[in-house]
Parts: sequence; C-alpha cells; structure tokens
Amino acid sequence: MDELRLKLAIQKSGRLTEPSLDLLVRCGLKISRGKDQLMAYGENMPLDVLFVRDDDIPDLVQEDVCDLGLVGLNVLEEKRLELASRGHAARFQQVRTLDFGRCRLALAVPDGASFEGPSSLRGKRIATTYPYLLEKYLRERDVCAEIVTLSGAVEIAPRLGRADLICDLVSTGSTLQANHLREVETVLESHAVLIRTPLDLPPLKDEWVQRLLMRIDGVQQVRESKYIMLHAPRSALGEIRKLLPGSESPTIIPLEGFPDRVAIHAVCRENVFWETLESLKKAGASALLVLPVEKMLA
Ligand code: ATP
Ligand code: ZN
Repeated sequence: MDELRLKLAIQKSGRLTEPSLDLLVRCGLKISRGKDQLMAYGENMPLDVLFVRDDDIPDLVQEDVCDLGLVGLNVLEEKRLELASRGHAARFQQVRTLDFGRCRLALAVPDGASFEGPSSLRGKRIATTYPYLLEKYLRERDVCAEIVTLSGAVEIAPRLGRADLICDLVSTGSTLQANHLREVETVLESHAVLIRTPLDLPPLKDEWVQRLLMRIDGVQQVRESKYIMLHAPRSALGEIRKLLPGSESPTIIPLEGFPDRVAIHAVCRENVFWETLESLKKAGASALLVLPVEKMLA
C-alpha cells in the first residue's frame, strides 16, 4: 500500500455508513468502490477508505493500520475505558465532533417496573454491550449492580429472564417501545466523531489531514446555514438585524428609486424557520428569500 496515502476507516454496513460516505463526498472525495470490497480508492485525493465493523475502528487507528476513523463516541469511550482498565492509554485523538450518528446510551426498565433514580438499580441485573461505560456510571453513583455483558439483542434480555433492565443505545425510542421497555436514565450522549493517530504524519499526509478537517468544518457549517435576502425600511434595520438568526454583519444595499428602503443579504448560521420570516415581515421586511448555502470556507 502506498505510504503517502491517508487511510480512513468507516463502518462497512450500518447506521454510520451512509452519513460517513455522504460527508466524504461533500468534502469533495470521489471514490471507486466495488460491491463488498474492503477498500475504496480515492480518485482525486490521496485518501483511501477502509470498510470495517465499527467496533474495530479505534483499534485500527491505534495500531496505525489507519490514520483516521469515523466512529461513534459510544464505541470510542467504551474502548478508552477498556484500555484504561488494563493500564493502557488510548492511542487515538478525537479531532472533530460530527453532526450525525446521534443517539444515547440509556437505561431502560420493563414497562411496569418502577424506577426512582440510580439507587433503584442496587442489586439488579443490567444487560448491555457497553460494560465499561455502565460500570463507570454505576461506580460514580456508588451503586452495586450486576452487569450482564451481551454481544447483541440486549433489548430482549429482560423478557428472556436474563436481566432486570438494560443499558443500550437509543435514538427515537421505537425499539424500546416495541420491546415494552421504558427509558429512564441517560448514561452517555453520543454522536459520530473523527479520530486520528497521535503520531506525526509525513508533511504531505498531514497537509491532507488539515485540508480534510477544514472541509469537514465547511460542510458542517453549511448544513445548517441559509442565505437570506429581503427588502426593509432603513428605519427597521436595527430590529431586523436582531431577528436574523446567527448572522454576522449583513450586507446592506441601497435600492434604486426607494431612498427609504434597502436590500439586506445575510448568511444565517442557523436554520431559518417560518416564524422568523413572519417576525421579519412584521418588522417591515418584504421580498423575503431564503436559499441553501452550497459551500463555505472561512
Ligand atoms: P457493526 O456490524 O459495524 O458492528 P453495529 O450493529 O455495531 O454494526 P449499528 O447498529 O449500525 O452498529 O450502529 C453503529 C453506530 O451508530 C452506533 O455505535 C452508534 O454510534 C450509532 N447509532 C445511532 N443511532 C443508533 C441507534 N438507535 N441504535 C444503535 N446505534 C445507533
Ligand atoms: Zn458494532
């Protein structure tokens, strides 16, 4: 393998796969990938993508098989704690927080069961695939409970009589509902992160890491950003500027033939909702137009 090409590990098939590939495409990467292939070649950047199980991503970066990885904070933190329990420090650095893969590691009890805070967990059997994160949660609350470590299908453990409650990943809560479970406590708020090796990279590779980071920042800013244009009376400028969500100094343009009115153009770093437009209109704005932003480079 070419030593001067960056290697980035992403999940092969799962919840993080599509958003990870989408992020890379938005960063300008063109990859060729055959079906079921383990690796895809970056055609326009010296960057190759490895498709692996998400649980293997921290190790691949630790062991310098890959320089970068996209993985859930839940997997990363569990790994960090597992390493710490063996007296090892993690050899990966978290370099970006990403805006996808949002979920939480949560405790859930069977529908009828009562729960009055962490002390209710005393002596209970809790099924999870995240024993280290759960152990930390219990230790910090001074609660002694039995951790039942499973490799999957955690949500059916209570019905099978293997546990009294579970500690599992939740996003919408529909899986819990379908299994007659009720979410009671959050153990960890999670989202995808970008990790890199802490080792110094050769200058060419390092330059591409920096470029990728800048592009990721741009992509993430753009996702929420809108370009807004409107006409307004000069006298309402102050009020209108206050109403524009997350915008820096807007551009004010005089309107030919209307000395009292101006056009205002601004980039809003937050989504622009109907309510905002209605308030702007009330403040005297007209000809309101909201456009998506395609690319941004600070
Ligand atoms: P793999 O075969 O790669 O090990 P997996 O079954 O561990 O797959 P997925 O269920 O695809 O993985 O989840 C991958 C990651 O997606 C999780 O580690 C988590 O960071 C994130 N995620 C987001 N929402 C959820 C959710 N509702 N349930 C589980 N994971 C979620
Ligand atoms: Zn996994």
